[in-house]
Amino acid sequence: MTDNCDFLVIGGGSGGIAAARRAAEHGARVALFEPARLGGTCVNVGCVPKKVMWNAAQLCHALELSDDYGLRARREGFDWATLKAGRDAYVGRLNKIYAENLKKSGVECVHAAARFCAKDAVEAGGKQYRAKHILIATGGRPTMPDLPGNEFAITSDGFFELPAQPMRPLLIGAGYIATELAGLLHALGSRVTMLLRKDRLLRAFDAALGDEVMAQMRESGVDIRTGEQCEEITRAEDGTLGYRAGEKSGGGFDCVLFAISRHANTAELALEKAGIAPERGFVPVDEFQNTAAEGVYALGDATPAVPLTPVAIAAGRRLADRLFGGKSGARLNYENIPTVVFSHPPIGSVGMSEESAAEAHGTENIRVYQSRFVNMRYALGAHKPKTLVKLVTAGADEKVVGCHVAGDGADEMMQGFAVAIKMGARKADLDDTVAIHPTAAEELVTLR
Ligand SMILES: Cc1cc2nc3c(=O)[nH]c(=O)nc-3n(C[C@H](O)[C@H](O)[C@H](O)COP(=O)(O)OP(=O)(O)OC[C@H]3O[C@@H](n4cnc5c(N)ncnc54)[C@H](O)[C@@H]3O)c2cc1C
Repeated sequence: MTDNCDFLVIGGGSGGIAAARRAAEHGARVALFEPARLGGTCVNVGCVPKKVMWNAAQLCHALELSDDYGLRARREGFDWATLKAGRDAYVGRLNKIYAENLKKSGVECVHAAARFCAKDAVEAGGKQYRAKHILIATGGRPTMPDLPGNEFAITSDGFFELPAQPMRPLLIGAGYIATELAGLLHALGSRVTMLLRKDRLLRAFDAALGDEVMAQMRESGVDIRTGEQCEEITRAEDGTLGYRAGEKSGGGFDCVLFAISRHANTAELALEKAGIAPERGFVPVDEFQNTAAEGVYALGDATPAVPLTPVAIAAGRRLADRLFGGKSGARLNYENIPTVVFSHPPIGSVGMSEESAAEAHGTENIRVYQSRFVNMRYALGAHKPKTLVKLVTAGADEKVVGCHVAGDGADEMMQGFAVAIKMGARKADLDDTVAIHPTAAEELVTLR
């Protein structure tokens, strides 16, 4: 039994690494367990490789405008293998940087999966480790539904391994991952079909955002089929894939990708040995990341928290500050977490949707400001996609409780507005801010 550590961190992803390094900076002796590549979902099969692909897609969109601007730039083919090799090399560099940073911080990295053997001890790589504080930061993984033919399908993890571009993909799901992958594949030249169980994309967001993105994706040529719940994946004699959804079916696909949900990596942790009962696989925690077991904490995608990298990182740092940095009240405030969907067009969103604000404050107490306009980027051409901006305010002083944008630049626009909203900005404060012209963002301070 090794018991020279203060803090054992299970999982070397966004949250685990952040917590381990911050704890070590405070002087704690830390061991971190990770059987796979350092960086977790975000670096290896999430945000980072996805954003590289989105950047490529954005370049394709920019080229489409080149004639309008007199450039006549042409895309001469597209080499998926080159993009993948560059992307994988970048991810490899990040893996190394994470290892070096852990070393620099003095965190001992154990390349093995860990599982509880007691409330205050874990077993990894044939050794046992004991410490007063243990963090569960094991993240999540994509869910493959239990359907006939699912062996022919992949998830987002498989997407990042594809050696060649799927030219005729079927993406099943309506959340941000399905929407992002569909959008970037379409931009890169694939003929994309999406299958939605319900009637709209991005149902976790303000309805206007999902409607806008769905309309623009459809207009650009993505085949979005709604109200179809996939029950089976089929493979034809010529090797092409298809689906059956009740009476409906479709075929001719070269790739089927499920992006329907994600579940927590907790099944292998022997949580019962720590006295923790997971709920639907997630580790229940209080607002200080405490689990039911004293000295055991959890954060990030292993918990029911908003599954985003900066959320896991922020929770990890605050936990380490609380346990080892003398900040007894440190905790993450989970309100007003901004987020971006790297769709086509991108979405930026912070705070409440109109629907949830109406529920929380009463319809009569909220006021909504909204505008749809053509970004000047499209001023010279015939194709004029719209940008949607929307503010949701509540109360007599019109406090801004939601800010939502779908359109070019939304991804880089939202961080600053998130600061204002976190500080309690009212509509009058936005009105009082001088616009930056000519931008799309200025619409948010000139809404009437
Ligand atoms: C396709 C995709 C795109 C995404 N895009 C974005 C985005 O643009 N922006 C954003 O903010 N978020 C994005 N996310 C979400 C983000 O990646 C996660 O919210 C984030 O990585 C969660 O961090 P975490 O530390 O909780 O878990 P993870 O980063 O998943 O890390 C968990 C780690 O624990 C390890 N582990 C599991 N079991 C054990 C064990 N028993 N012992 C030791 N280690 C173990 C795993 O191998 C893994 O490395 C995306 C996710 C996906 C799938």
